[in-house]
Amino acid sequence: MLCKVCRSKGKRKKAVIYLRHHRLALCKEHFIEWFERQVERTVKKFKMFTRKEKVLVAVSGGKDSLSLWFALNKLGYETYGLHISLGIEGWDYSKESLRVCREFSGRLGRPLIVVNLKEEFGYTVEEIAKGSGRRDVCSVCGTFKRYLMNKVAKEEGFKVVATGHNLDDESALLLSNTIRWELGYLGRQSPVLPEEGGFVKKVKPFCFLTEKETVSYAIVNEIEYMEKGCPNAKEATSAHFKRALAYLEHKMPGTKLRFYKEFLKRARPVFEKEVKEGLELNECEVCGMPTTSPVCSVCRMLQRLKEC
Ligand code: SF4
Ligand code: ZN
Ligand code: ZN
Repeated sequence: MLCKVCRSKGKRKKAVIYLRHHRLALCKEHFIEWFERQVERTVKKFKMFTRKEKVLVAVSGGKDSLSLWFALNKLGYETYGLHISLGIEGWDYSKESLRVCREFSGRLGRPLIVVNLKEEFGYTVEEIAKGSGRRDVCSVCGTFKRYLMNKVAKEEGFKVVATGHNLDDESALLLSNTIRWELGYLGRQSPVLPEEGGFVKKVKPFCFLTEKETVSYAIVNEIEYMEKGCPNAKEATSAHFKRALAYLEHKMPGTKLRFYKEFLKRARPVFEKEVKEGLELNECEVCGMPTTSPVCSVCRMLQRLKEC
């Protein structure tokens, strides 16, 4: 297959990727160009940040977050990495993730902020999940990561945190929230969560790019990323929704993008109104971070652990 852009210029160059839902075959050079243009367009469309602001990029060591850091840095944004070390021992996951992030930070010549869960709270994420009686490690992990991202951003003077969530993540989350009719979550699901009530702005510049596209971007740019992923990932319920959407995408290319884009355009504004009316934020009595209850969920889990 030949690159469509090269062909339009009268050149014959072999394509490295075929984007089925865009009916687009591209060579390495034009795929990189196309990918970065999509990122820039999303950043601008949703007014995520400007080149005058410093951006905290949450990096796990996986393909999405490192590709995001790489792309934003290349596009000229002032980026800083944030790695939260969770203390997951299986497959040496946390140790390796930290090494990969450190090396990548060196390659980019950009600073990396590292927060270690065990040093910060005295427990690894798996110890917290076990001790707090929550079976789902991933939901505990998500709560702590969101908490720390916000805390570090505030302490270090960042107004915006960027995460590498891609279209596969966002459409799977949307399907999961829709099946459960989680109106509050539906109202809050967005490429941009504005700064409010003690939360810094959170953005997802990859929300319209598929996992296939982000992994391809990582490969063509020779980014070393954690291929294995976290040992707990297979238990995550999001994996079922991703598989269901992958089947639909295979049968009907473009399903994921349509599902998510149409939601943002037509359904989200309806749910958003309900959230604004129902959500009241106050400061956690223990740590002072924003929460809807008197004590935030992180402090509640830590208190339960201390009582054990
Ligand atoms: Fe955390 Fe679960 Fe992701 Fe592992 S798979 S990093 S436990 S959310
Ligand atoms: Zn080309
Ligand atoms: Zn708290």
